[in-house]
Amino acid sequence: MTTRPDSHDPSTLSFQTQAVHAGNRVDEGSKAIRTPIVMANSYALPYDPSSLSWSNTDTKTYTRNTGTNQEALQHKLATLEGGEDAVVLASGVAALHGVFFSYLSSGDHAVVGDVTYEAIWKLFTDLLPVKYGIEATFVDSSDPDAVRAAIRPNTKLVHVEAIGNPTTKVTDIAAIAEIAHAAGALLTVDSTFTPPPLLRPLELGADLVVHSLTKYINGHGDAMGGAVIGSAELVAKIKAEAMVDVGGTISPFNAWLITRGSVTLPLRLRQHLANAEVVARHLEADPRVAYVAYPGLESHPQHELAKRQFGDRGFGGVLAFAVDGDPDTQNRFVSNLRLVTSAVSIGHDESLIVHVGTTGPRVQYYPDEFKTYGHLRFSVGLEDPADIIADLDAALDATFGPR
Ligand SMILES: *Cc1c(COP(=O)(O)O)cnc(C)c1O
Repeated sequence: MTTRPDSHDPSTLSFQTQAVHAGNRVDEGSKAIRTPIVMANSYALPYDPSSLSWSNTDTKTYTRNTGTNQEALQHKLATLEGGEDAVVLASGVAALHGVFFSYLSSGDHAVVGDVTYEAIWKLFTDLLPVKYGIEATFVDSSDPDAVRAAIRPNTKLVHVEAIGNPTTKVTDIAAIAEIAHAAGALLTVDSTFTPPPLLRPLELGADLVVHSLTKYINGHGDAMGGAVIGSAELVAKIKAEAMVDVGGTISPFNAWLITRGSVTLPLRLRQHLANAEVVARHLEADPRVAYVAYPGLESHPQHELAKRQFGDRGFGGVLAFAVDGDPDTQNRFVSNLRLVTSAVSIGHDESLIVHVGTTGPRVQYYPDEFKTYGHLRFSVGLEDPADIIADLDAALDATFGPR
């Protein structure tokens, strides 16, 4: 651990307590009891700086190497995910690119889940092969045999999401970890849809966990960030190669905002998970709704796996559904919503919905109902679930007429 120790995060403390205290300490200069925002590019050098390495990520010299607010957030995230260390970057995509840039080289092969985040598709189909000669095979990661069959002698990395964006497909992290490790490859998990304590992929055998901090961990829709968490050794390479030499540094202000937002992660997540389950069941029971994809529903293809993997903690805060109609019917339904906001992103305090159509390069991997109707990706917010349901019902009535 290269971040500073504090007295508040021994593993004997519960997640909820760690979320309040981990990474925070009294500021030596001001005596403020919460780590303040340190908007600085540079830190005072020692009397003899001539032997300092300008690539080091331990000594605060320059904010692209490390800084007060990055250190506090890294320490906190490592504690919450159960890793030795973390690196924080400017966005989730910067964090994902940091992993692939650091751990894949020309001639290497990666096995990638077929419904991962859109930018991952673009990186592995276009940018990484063309620029770096890195090859990838997209597989249905909910099928361990398909992952095993896709492994090649030069496979160095397997990348999946525990709950896939946008189809909500569930992947068995422990099973995929075994397959990746048998092949000598790293397993990297984008856990943005499944923040702790819902899931801790490192405990299930993942080597690196990636988060878009923009989503649940910050939770307030006002800052972007990304993180990679894992062993100190694996994270050090990402700090050295992707942070210091490629950039993508998070601003101290955003790191501070995300640190502050994450204090309430356990409380917020509990409400997100409870609201999503209620809303998913309500939508599924309405005949004007064509389908609902949510791992907590008995109708979900990996419902049993989800129950096993997530225990009684919940099934995520995001669902996908469509109303029974053509693309313009989906648009009319969304425009009839008054409380739920039409916008991209997930994991904000407010409910967000986005209509995604039936074209695009990844639609080939979506379930049939997604191909037929398109889908509305719905990130269920922290509002009173009765108000969310009333808004959905009113919009269904306005679109189709009353039931
Ligand atoms: C949003 C998101 C990302 C990208 O994060 P940014 O902070 O927007 O760069 C990556 N993975 C998943 C699953 C996401 O939802």
